[in-house]
Amino acid sequence: MKVFKFGGASVKDAQAFHNLYKIVKEHSASDQLLLVVSAMGKTTNALEQVLELAYSKSDYRTDLQNSYTYHQEIVQELFPQQSHPVYEELEQLFSKLQHLLQSFLTDVSYDLLYDQVVSFGELFSSTILHHFLQTQGLPNTWVDSRKYIQTDTTWREARVDWVWTERIIKRDLPSLLAQRPIVTQGFLGGTNNGLTTTLGREGSDYSAAIFAHCLDAESMYIWKDVDGLLNADPKHFSDTIRYDQISYQETVEMAYYGASVIHPKTIKPLANKLIPLYVKSFINPAGAGTKICDCTNDKIAPAYIIKENQCLISFGAKDFAFVSERNMGTIFNALSELRIKINLMQNSAISFSICIDLHQEHLQKLIQTLQDLFVIHYNTGLRLYTIKNYETLSTQKAMEGKEVLLEQRTRSTLHFVCK
Ligand code: ASP
Ligand code: MG
Repeated sequence: MKVFKFGGASVKDAQAFHNLYKIVKEHSASDQLLLVVSAMGKTTNALEQVLELAYSKSDYRTDLQNSYTYHQEIVQELFPQQSHPVYEELEQLFSKLQHLLQSFLTDVSYDLLYDQVVSFGELFSSTILHHFLQTQGLPNTWVDSRKYIQTDTTWREARVDWVWTERIIKRDLPSLLAQRPIVTQGFLGGTNNGLTTTLGREGSDYSAAIFAHCLDAESMYIWKDVDGLLNADPKHFSDTIRYDQISYQETVEMAYYGASVIHPKTIKPLANKLIPLYVKSFINPAGAGTKICDCTNDKIAPAYIIKENQCLISFGAKDFAFVSERNMGTIFNALSELRIKINLMQNSAISFSICIDLHQEHLQKLIQTLQDLFVIHYNTGLRLYTIKNYETLSTQKAMEGKEVLLEQRTRSTLHFVCK
């Protein structure tokens, strides 16, 4: 049994759906398949925007209408027969969403509403995919992942209740899979009182890994618009190379440092059961792709990871006192309260610096919380470079001509923050 994850780009238009069908058809002949699908194209961003507007009591109707039209046009291309039930289902989903937006109570937490609203992207895509595969002669079962991936109520970054999740997945899904492929949503989870949660942006990879883990899948595949796991983002670097095979360990670190290829939480559930992960191109499915598995990489090409829109903050103790562990405790508490993730940190005698993703609102709250205790300075608009398995030459080249504000090296990894 295999788990396939299809991201937003692999279902961004009608052509993409046809392409996806070909891939699934080829594999469904020999394997049981569970298909995890993300929201189509940039739908998640669009729904985030709709929510922003609705929450601030602004007019969200045009944005919602645009998202509706986008889905509707693809459906019209995929289902020429106007009486097909997919039209009715899509209509119902959109009217549910509209209803939700109209009945908003702004005293309810924004993050809770976020999950209820933004989750519609995956409900749209999975509904369309289910029907489309059906019409192509590939019967399949649509499964609501919110009933299987059980989580707590950490909205927007829900934590999985593994015991429950594994129990119900194991109870229900193997017998369904024995009959036909399953189509389900990435990114979504559910609480025990029936509310929707989400697992963090780009979390569909993680969803797929959860299903793979609980079903003891033979392997998991992520189908992407690149040829596999590359050593750098082709948007920033011209001569990238693809890893044929790479260890879980290397991949986790790359994802953690910000390589956008795979959601950082994806690897653990797979590695714990030694399930190999293949990253392959949906444009060139015959290509070798990358195999991520329990292997050792003796000599491996350096990986370049860039995180943009960074903010470097330094906390100095007032009156030249040392930044003590107790002070750091205070800083860490404030960060944890605001759910701010540190990308890099460094301390000196009288100051402590951190590099974080810039989020204006969080930054202002952090400053408010800590300004009475520390002298705070910060720079924004920075980039964080990480070079894993760096060599002298690659390092020199990457740092050339850049104004470096902070640098840190271990034996294998170099980080620097620059303008
Ligand atoms: N649709 C969600 C997002 O864009 C989840 C995903 O794509 O993995 O963040
Ligand atoms: Mg997406």
